[in-house]
Amino acid sequence: MHRRSLLATLAAPLSGQILFEDYNPKSTLKVPAREITRSKFPHIDIHNHQNGTMPAAQLEKLVKDMDALNMTMMVNLNGNFGEKGRAVLKNMQGAYPKRFIIFANLDFENMDAPDYAKRVADTLDQSFKDGAQGLKLFKNFGMTTRDKAGKRIPADDKRWFDVFEVCAKYKAPVLIHTADPKPFWDPWDKNNERWLELKEFPGRRRTAEKDGSWEELMQESERLFKAHPKTNFISAHLRWYGNDLASLGQQMEAMPNLYTDIAAVIAELGRQPRFANQWLTKYADRVLFGKDIWAPSEYYTYFRVLESSDEYFEYYRRRHAFWKMYGLGLNDDTLKKLYYRTALKIVPGLDRKPFPG
Ligand SMILES: [Zn+2]
Repeated sequence: MHRRSLLATLAAPLSGQILFEDYNPKSTLKVPAREITRSKFPHIDIHNHQNGTMPAAQLEKLVKDMDALNMTMMVNLNGNFGEKGRAVLKNMQGAYPKRFIIFANLDFENMDAPDYAKRVADTLDQSFKDGAQGLKLFKNFGMTTRDKAGKRIPADDKRWFDVFEVCAKYKAPVLIHTADPKPFWDPWDKNNERWLELKEFPGRRRTAEKDGSWEELMQESERLFKAHPKTNFISAHLRWYGNDLASLGQQMEAMPNLYTDIAAVIAELGRQPRFANQWLTKYADRVLFGKDIWAPSEYYTYFRVLESSDEYFEYYRRRHAFWKMYGLGLNDDTLKKLYYRTALKIVPGLDRKPFPG
């Protein structure tokens, strides 16, 4: 008897142990709060990925979901090039000419061929003639893309110089994903803010040897932006400076052609509501609204972080943030810049009529 109760006592704390990744306390806080399912002003999502050749019924459903969110226009960054690019334009803009904006992608075939620089620039030129309104560069560009010898090709490599001059010619912005969150390079230990993400996706760990250091990738992209002052660059995901907005502000001041979006990094803003409010109030004419992964209900968190003054509410993806969100309570002028004015300024040929000005 005695022995058994002693064992039970010993076992109790053990069975009470839980893993960090399972710990998910439900907040008991009761404060005024309100879900926002529709943005206060019509918005443009500058950072979205869609299969541009989806069937008509799916496209119709997409537009209905956009309407419910008050999303007036969506940029599909998977615009491809050549025949496939034209198929995307025809399918999406053919059906809804005012709702979808298509950003083209680059052709990375035979990058070592002597005629590559000209061919890739000509292909992009044709994409713009076909109706693409910007260029999207995925994270392979400058990080994992390699030449024949296996050497990483930096973002400011000369073979792509003409590509960015073609963008300047058409005033087409370049939405570019540079590097990854810095913690992916840092030791995977108890101090790493993305520990959980790296546990769930070990393949996301990066090393300076394999991928270039985070600092190198940032410097290379900075050289790229400076080499093409007439080309506007939207450095995606707050340029992975969401945890250091002051630095990002300094970079934007040094480079007038540098813009950014808030796609996939709303949790960075939601953990610093007062400073993020000040920062966005100052820089919203350089910042664009975007979400990245298409999941309509997740937009509610974006609207709530930007518009409300709610406190300590849930974010939907724990591997990005184990912390809660706070509303920034942005003023109308700042919201309008974020939601559509900055996009109208730098994406050519958009219809201004649906927006309140
Ligand atoms: Zn993306």
